[in-house]
Amino acid sequence: MSVAADCLFCRIAAGGIPAEVVRRDDGFVAFRDIAPKAPVHLLVIPARHVESLAGVGGLSEGERAAMLPFIAEVAREAGLEDGGYRVTTNHGPDARQSVFHLHWHVMGGGPLSETM
Ligand code: AMP
Repeated sequence: MSVAADCLFCRIAAGGIPAEVVRRDDGFVAFRDIAPKAPVHLLVIPARHVESLAGVGGLSEGERAAMLPFIAEVAREAGLEDGGYRVTTNHGPDARQSVFHLHWHVMGGGPLSETM
């Protein structure tokens, strides 16, 4: 398993930094964003360290196959399926990526802005 010692989200995945974890399974962890930008704002990360979606080839075939179903399950468990939800990921400076460990924002719980 690839883990970067100085990576915040690797440390959250390993349990070394506390987070409000809502699901952990299949090499993925979902937890609440510390600065939510929606009524429900979750982050989904692979436990394996890859910097962003651009590095998705660094995940195993099984992890790549499990990732989207895991995200959909997290959204369902959070009660977001009926009202709807948005899933985004940021890569690089133009997208304002601030944590360099692949993560998916799962946002919902009410009407979201048109521009996010
Ligand atoms: P991004 O800008 O796409 O890289 O998103 C990084 C996200 O991580 C932001 O929404 C932050 O609020 C969130 N974040 C940063 N530190 C933590 C933390 N310790 N626990 C939970 N979420 C965090």
